[in-house]
Amino acid sequence: MAVDSGLSSPLGPPACEKDAKALQFIEEMTRNPDQVQEKILAEILSQNGETEYLQRFKLAGATDRDTFKSKVPVVTYEDLQPDIQRIANGDRSPILSSHPISEFLTSSGTSAGERKLMPTIHEEWDRRQKLYSLLMPVMNLYVPGLDKGKGLYFLFVKSETKTPSGLVARPVLTGYYRSEHFKKRPYDPYNVYTSPDEAILCVDSFQSMYAQMLCGLLMHKEVLRVGAVFASGLLRAIRFLQVHWQQLAHDISTGILNPKITDPSVREGLAGILKPSQELADFIIQECSGGNWERIITRIWPNTKYLDVIVTGAMAQYIPTLDYFSGGIPLACTMYASSECYFGLNLKPMSKPSEVSYTIMPNMGYFEFLPHDPSAPPLSRDSPPRLVDLADVEVGKEYELVITTYAGLCRYRVGDILQVTGFHNSAPQFQFIRRKNVLLSIDSDKTDEAELQKAVENASLLLREFNTSVVEYTSFADTKTIPGHYVIYWELLVKDPSNSPTDTVLKQCCLAMEESLNTVYRQGRVADNSIGPLEIRVVKSGTFEELMDYAISRGASINQYKVPRCVNFTPIMELLDSRVLSTYFSPAAPHWTPERRRTD
Ligand code: AMP
Repeated sequence: MAVDSGLSSPLGPPACEKDAKALQFIEEMTRNPDQVQEKILAEILSQNGETEYLQRFKLAGATDRDTFKSKVPVVTYEDLQPDIQRIANGDRSPILSSHPISEFLTSSGTSAGERKLMPTIHEEWDRRQKLYSLLMPVMNLYVPGLDKGKGLYFLFVKSETKTPSGLVARPVLTGYYRSEHFKKRPYDPYNVYTSPDEAILCVDSFQSMYAQMLCGLLMHKEVLRVGAVFASGLLRAIRFLQVHWQQLAHDISTGILNPKITDPSVREGLAGILKPSQELADFIIQECSGGNWERIITRIWPNTKYLDVIVTGAMAQYIPTLDYFSGGIPLACTMYASSECYFGLNLKPMSKPSEVSYTIMPNMGYFEFLPHDPSAPPLSRDSPPRLVDLADVEVGKEYELVITTYAGLCRYRVGDILQVTGFHNSAPQFQFIRRKNVLLSIDSDKTDEAELQKAVENASLLLREFNTSVVEYTSFADTKTIPGHYVIYWELLVKDPSNSPTDTVLKQCCLAMEESLNTVYRQGRVADNSIGPLEIRVVKSGTFEELMDYAISRGASINQYKVPRCVNFTPIMELLDSRVLSTYFSPAAPHWTPERRRTD
């Protein structure tokens, strides 16, 4: 593995000189994270000390932790929204950051149904690039020879909008792929993609996927790893292959690109790659035509050593399906990041998904940890929470992540719950437990209890004229289908059976629910096709009482029993499904446009 016996790292023998430097950097950062954190906070506070936000808390030029913690409050997005809105509306004064806000990153987390806008500054890309540059050196420790082939990665950009002041607002990865950091990246033999940049940068998701799949097929023997950002994205690619393999094989057989690919730059990007090959076309037909999709990934890309996709958190629901399509080759979760800040990486990327821990890199921002105790009373202004520093977290405990960034977020609650599993040197490692308040998630959508409740209420208005109401409901993220979809179980009270709701109305209820859900959900339905039509399953009256009986028989307290608004425990699913009277699917796509609803 090591090309130079002189190279070494406590993490393992580096594959090349460049890797040795990256591993050395990880060692430096993790040996004394507390010192690094102190320095980072001082740097952030001196850089942003003159901002309107920090001036409000009268730090008087202090850059130390104690003053910062005693004066600056812990906040949520909603607390910052008025300031963020001012920036979006064109106020260029230093509100949150002394450096100009270069763009907004639109988080998949939402506030009032719209994506959260995360202000960022230009230099932030350098910091994020630095984290990316550590991933392959770590991977090369575990998988040798990745410089001998390519990575088939399904990467996409999404549409971007402008705020009233003309600042671009787009998802973080769209920002990254469109940045010079990505487009002008130096050649790295360990990081060569099958997809030309033109295919990745095409906004039309069909054309982008088609081109990327075609390139992956054309270079199938060179592919050493297959990936996407999240597991749901890779499954969408497999589904695409299931639907379009004939057309793809036809293109390969003739050497002529499908006329549906109209984007001139994509056509140009493929021009040098698409060469006719009857042999390859026959191979694809032979593998795909039988209707057997088990191990399809390793059958078509036989040299694949691992799948590079995040399967921690909400994505864990896709592990069995990925195993089915890949024959159980390793699933590598390499990094943990968000629009607000990139956090860290997995130093043992070949570990089993259930054992994945991320090491937060202390140079990425200033990190604090709010002990997470679900039974504790909610935080109040009078009893400020005690936050723990990165170096002081304790193994086994759960915390909510709170960040302070160069771009101007101060003591901002990310909403992720993490558990400490151990340390690398002195830097703690965390298992991602879950995102707070998320009930349903298929792709990057995150639907909370309040949103689901509102959607049920809105949809049930349609039942009024039938003198019918929804007496109970629960939900389930069905990921057995690709794409997955939301299933909502409804128990109805039909007061006048001679005028019960028609099938058409119940289908309209599905659509009404979708219309109520947040913009990320609707974008997944409309633009990305990453979420299938919502389904309502009407269950027999009395079903939810049976559900309660079942919970109580398993030890739940009768007084404290609450209907679970989301279920995924097999016996409960079986109970619900055995009581289903009828099922309905949304008959159309809900409305979605890239533009934000104006809140000012
Ligand atoms: P966004 O800001 O839309 O990019 O979403 C960021 C969120 O995605 C994080 O706060 C996490 O909740 C989730 N996330 C990111 N990386 C991971 C990971 N490796 N495992 C589990 N969840 C993740």
